[in-house]
Amino acid sequence: MGLSERIGAIQHSMDFISKARFDENVDRVCISMTENNFDLQPTRESGGNTNGTLDPEYTSWLKKHPSALGMFEQIMASGKGKKIIVFLDYDGTLSPIVDDPDRAFMSEMMRAAVREVAKYFPTAIISGRSREKVFKFVQLAGVYYAGSHGMDIMAPVLPLSTSDVKHQTRIDDKQGSGDVLFQPAKEFLPTIQEIIEELEEKTKCIHGVIIENNRFCISVHFRRVREEDYSELEELVKSIVKDYPQFHLTRGRKVIEIRPSIKWDKGYALEYMLDTLGYGNSNDVLAFYIGDDRTDEDAFRVLQAKKRGYPIIVSSIPKETSAVYSLQDPSEVMSFLLHLARWRRNSSSSKIVI
Ligand SMILES: [Mg+2]
Repeated sequence: MGLSERIGAIQHSMDFISKARFDENVDRVCISMTENNFDLQPTRESGGNTNGTLDPEYTSWLKKHPSALGMFEQIMASGKGKKIIVFLDYDGTLSPIVDDPDRAFMSEMMRAAVREVAKYFPTAIISGRSREKVFKFVQLAGVYYAGSHGMDIMAPVLPLSTSDVKHQTRIDDKQGSGDVLFQPAKEFLPTIQEIIEELEEKTKCIHGVIIENNRFCISVHFRRVREEDYSELEELVKSIVKDYPQFHLTRGRKVIEIRPSIKWDKGYALEYMLDTLGYGNSNDVLAFYIGDDRTDEDAFRVLQAKKRGYPIIVSSIPKETSAVYSLQDPSEVMSFLLHLARWRRNSSSSKIVI
């Protein structure tokens, strides 16, 4: 039975069984998929695109950024005896990019795969969304969450060597793993609110604009904006942000983002998390960072520079990147996560550091 038929069969069964039973079944299928070597090979190696024809540009890009699935054995051989840590972006990595950003749901299969990998390795999701929203999408307790491009991190309490402790606060309302919140841009909150109100008012005239409050940054989604209206929107956003010199614009997939101009991005967030997990200065760590967008490149560069693991880009088209390996789409990300979990299950526990 193919993957889509399996998913279909499981989803159909939701009509008859409780949600708890459903989750249990999804987990069982995920484990069975990995134990039976399901989907071991990347789908694009046989062709490069869905209609089976070779895309020479993509094929040559793949030589520079080989498939993390195709290279799985070699990658894991380099991590023998090391502590494995998994960092994941959310949109476009765990969920598809959809028209309505509020409906960027991850599949039950993907959730089960993340749950499975988090069972064995510290796992963190670093997203541009607000931390609360990412948790709402992912709904897994045993995972660390960082929202607003890492400006809102729920992390464990551990001695810090490089990070500033003044932005930390203890928390009671736990959503995921971690005991403290790290929020280096807290002082910007009132101004962020002010900018959101101005954006909402002034972009009303452009159809399809969605303003998302990501708490420590603002997303102006233009996935539903007509192409001919885009320049007007861009000019409008620029003109608003010009009046707030402490903020700057960045661009992502179908989104313009407004962020406080502090020295902080997903790269710093990655460093902070390695630090709080106790691996700031350790060479015995093999970290993976999987992401699809420009903002993930900051984390890719940090991981490369520190030689602490491998950045993996999710892309089905050739693009400039600091990533070492690639995965084509979220379904390959799921497959990679399941392979990690299977690798851990199949490894002798005496050889593995947990
Ligand atoms: Mg993304």
